Amino acid sequence: MDIKDFRKNAHDMVDWMADYMEGGVCDYPVRPVITPGEIKAKLPAAAPIEGESFGAIFKDFEDIAVPGLTHWQHPRFFGYFPANSSPPSVLAEMLTAALGVNVMMWETSPAATEIEEQMLVWLRDMSGLPPSWQGVIQDTASIATLCAVLTARERATGWQSNSTGLRHQPQLTYYTSSESHSSVMKAMRIAGIGDEALRSVPLGDDLAMDASALKGMIADDILAGKKPTGIVATVGTTSTGAVDPVRAIGEIANAHNIHLHVDSAWAGSAMICPEFRNLIDGLELADSFVSNPHKWLMTNFDCSVYYVKDADALKRTFSILPEYLKTKETGTVTDYRDWGVQLGRRFRAMKLWFVMRSYGVSGLQKIIRNHIAWANELAEIIQVDKDFEIVTGPNLSLICFRVVAKDAYQSDALTEKLVQLVNDDGFTYLTRTIVKGRPAIRIQIGQTQTTRQDVLDAWEHIVNLKKTLKN
Ligand code: PLP
Repeated sequence: MDIKDFRKNAHDMVDWMADYMEGGVCDYPVRPVITPGEIKAKLPAAAPIEGESFGAIFKDFEDIAVPGLTHWQHPRFFGYFPANSSPPSVLAEMLTAALGVNVMMWETSPAATEIEEQMLVWLRDMSGLPPSWQGVIQDTASIATLCAVLTARERATGWQSNSTGLRHQPQLTYYTSSESHSSVMKAMRIAGIGDEALRSVPLGDDLAMDASALKGMIADDILAGKKPTGIVATVGTTSTGAVDPVRAIGEIANAHNIHLHVDSAWAGSAMICPEFRNLIDGLELADSFVSNPHKWLMTNFDCSVYYVKDADALKRTFSILPEYLKTKETGTVTDYRDWGVQLGRRFRAMKLWFVMRSYGVSGLQKIIRNHIAWANELAEIIQVDKDFEIVTGPNLSLICFRVVAKDAYQSDALTEKLVQLVNDDGFTYLTRTIVKGRPAIRIQIGQTQTTRQDVLDAWEHIVNLKKTLKN
C-alpha cells in the first residue's frame, strides 16, 4: 500500500468507524450466534503469495470479522466488565500505531515517557490516590498483580529470590479472598510460589474478605514457620463487585510487614468521583493499586494503571541492565523498562492523554455517575418485579439477580436457562455467575454509548424472554 492509497483507505476506514460508533454497531447482535470453527472455515488455508487489494481485505473484514464478533462497544453490552472505547481514545490509538514508538526507556521515546509520567500524576490526583505514589501503565491488571506478587516475594526474601530462587527460603504464603480474580492464582504460579501457598480467606456475608479470619490465618502460618508475604485485596470483585475492607486489611499487613496489593481493576475508575472513595478508605496503608482505564474510563484496551508506594522496590524487582540498554541518562530519568515484565512498551499514555483532555474530569465523572444512577434505577425496577430478586448490589453499577420460583431448585434452573436464552438471542448480553453456591445473572452498566433507554430496553427484553420460559 503506497502512501496515496493509505491516505484514501484511512479516510474510508474512519468513516466506517464513525458509522459503527454512531449506531452501526446496533445492526449486529451483541453476541453472534455462531459455531466454533465457522469463521476459520471462511479463511484461506495459507497466506496469499501476492499482495491483495485493500478493497478485498476490507470486504472480508466487513463480511467475515465483524459479523463474527461479540460487540463489546454495543450499547446493550452488559456482560463481564466493560471494555469501553471512545472517539478520542481511538484517534490516539491510531496515532500510536502510526508513530510506532517503543517506550522502553526515556531515550527511546522521551516525550512518551514524560507524558506517561504526567498522565499517571493526573489520574492519581483526580482519583484521590495517595499523593506520593508513582505509577506506570501496564498492559493488563493481571500483569500488574504479577508485579505486586513478585515485588512482595523479593521484599520478603531480602531481595534474594531473584538470584537464588526459593529453595533456601521458608514457605512464602499469600492471602486473598475466594472471590478474588483468577489473575491472583496465575501470578502465584508464574512467580514460582504455587497455588497451595495462596490462602483463600473466608468471606463475610457481604462477600468481602473477613479481616479477622485473615489475621488468624497469618498467625497460624507464622506459628507453623511460614513466611506471610503478600495480600491481594479486591475493591470491586469480578463476580459481584464486593469490596474488601482495605483499612482493616492494611493494618494487619503493616503489623506483619506484609505487602498489600489492591486490585481495583474495574471499580478503580469510579474513584474519579469523590463520593465513591470510601471504597478505598485506608489505601495509604497498602503498597500497590491497580485500576483498568480500559474497563471503565473510555480508554480502549489495553491500558492498566499500576500505582506503587515504593517505586524503588518495584524497580529493584525487575531491573536488569545489559550494556545495550545503558544510556547516558540511565539513573537520572524514568526508564519504564524497569517497572514491569516487558521491555518493549507501546505508547499507551497517548490515549489517556487524549481521553482525559477530551472529556475533562467532569465529563468522565458524568458518564460514570450516569451508569451508577441507571444501575440504581434498574435495581428499584427489579425489586418490585415478583419474578426476580436481587442477589447482590447494586455495587456501583453491578447488580446480580435471579429468577424467583416456587423453590430454590427451580429458581436456579430458570436462572440458568434465562441467561442462556438472553445471550443466544443477541439483543443484549449478560454474564452468569455463582453467588453463595447458587447461579445468578450479572448485569453491569458501563459502556461508553449506553443510554438510560438502553438499560430499560434491555430489562424489558429480559422480562419478556423470562415469560417464554416454562417452569
Ligand atoms: N481483577 C479484577 C477484579 C477483574 O475483574 C479483572 C477482569 O475482569 C482482572 C483483574 C483482570 O483484568 P485484565 O484483563 O486487565 O488482566
